[in-house]
Amino acid sequence: MSIIKLLYFPNKKLRNIAKSIKNINNDIKLLGNNMLEIMYSYNGIGLAATQIGINKRIIVIDITKKQNNPLILINPVIIQFDKLKINSNEGCLSIPIKQRYFVLRSKRIKIKAQNLMNEFIEFKAYNLLSFCIQHEIDHLNGILFIDYLSNLKYQRICDKINKLNHKIILLKKQNYIK
Ligand code: ZN
Repeated sequence: MSIIKLLYFPNKKLRNIAKSIKNINNDIKLLGNNMLEIMYSYNGIGLAATQIGINKRIIVIDITKKQNNPLILINPVIIQFDKLKINSNEGCLSIPIKQRYFVLRSKRIKIKAQNLMNEFIEFKAYNLLSFCIQHEIDHLNGILFIDYLSNLKYQRICDKINKLNHKIILLKKQNYIK
């Protein structure tokens, strides 16, 4: 389990587009549970498989952090976006800086996904849960929340990460949002 490592920006694997899961077998169940374990160990509220270098469409979420009713969503799709967008105050386990930034996200969404029992589920999410699901599905599409920020803010984040890494890397903002 502990061999699995969280990937950090600017790791290129974070830009991979994850593939649909066809078989929800024991490996996928194990993956889902491992992802929860990693998420809790980093005190996060959401994690996408892309963040641990696994190219599969699976995300885990627990906005309460209470570990009693986490969501494991396989092949999640947002089938309805509310037109109303509000500011979501976000951070990301893959962006190792303390500061959080505002991103505009739909307040309400409707999601379709499969669960570990291979059942199709549909539900509505509001506010934090909605933002978190949007953030994690973005990961499956190679999009990071910092992609929504201005070039200046993006550059500042890169500068901070460069200082953490003690090496100079020049990162130019690219357009990953389709
Ligand atoms: Zn993230």
